[in-house]
Amino acid sequence: MAYVIPAPPQAVVPVAGSTDLFPVHRIYCVGRNYEEHAREMGFTGREPPFFFAKPADALLPVAEETGEMPYPPGTQSLHHEIELVVAIGRRGREIAAASAPAHIWGYAVGLDMTRRDLQGEAKRLGRPWEIGKGFDFSAPVSSVRPVEKTGEVNRGRIWLKVNGQLRQDSDVSKMIWKVSETIEHLSKYFELVPGDLVFTGTPEGVAAVVPGDVLEGGVDGVGTLHLKIAPPAQD
Ligand code: MN
Repeated sequence: MAYVIPAPPQAVVPVAGSTDLFPVHRIYCVGRNYEEHAREMGFTGREPPFFFAKPADALLPVAEETGEMPYPPGTQSLHHEIELVVAIGRRGREIAAASAPAHIWGYAVGLDMTRRDLQGEAKRLGRPWEIGKGFDFSAPVSSVRPVEKTGEVNRGRIWLKVNGQLRQDSDVSKMIWKVSETIEHLSKYFELVPGDLVFTGTPEGVAAVVPGDVLEGGVDGVGTLHLKIAPPAQD
């Protein structure tokens, strides 16, 4: 038997400090996981974590170089959201928070790029968020650093500069739902498998970028990510 069309390539992110690759299965994202960001989006209070997903091939792996993300179609408001990304290395469902660390393979720095105008319209109309969140190149991700090198990441500065100006500046310890709790909640609804990535939410300071902008962001102890917003893709 043979494939009738070429099989899609496996989405991968490089492993920091090696030539190895981490193959990506799914990309889950947590919404509103820092209080100040929830507030800037018009919400208050602790609500149970909620999730959305991006297709694995929305991944834009960025190793040491500066990545290039083509400005996506259909939006006038492309927003940056700097996030700690957790790479899952062990299968599990209904994982208790206390057991969650054993399922973490490593960590990366990611940008949950968002067509905010389209997401806002979807919210208003009660429609799914795909069009605002799950588009091509919407998930730039740095190299993954193994947990043996980082230790468990529960604190550390998370920041983003645009053209050298600080736009987002917070600390991972300010997450409403900690990484372990996020894994507990997520794994009640989905079986987590090796290769899953979990974007753990963004702090306050989200704003729009335009072609030519250069983004530099990081999570202390995990890594940094450099990304240039390029003109729209041409055929
Ligand atoms: Mn996000």
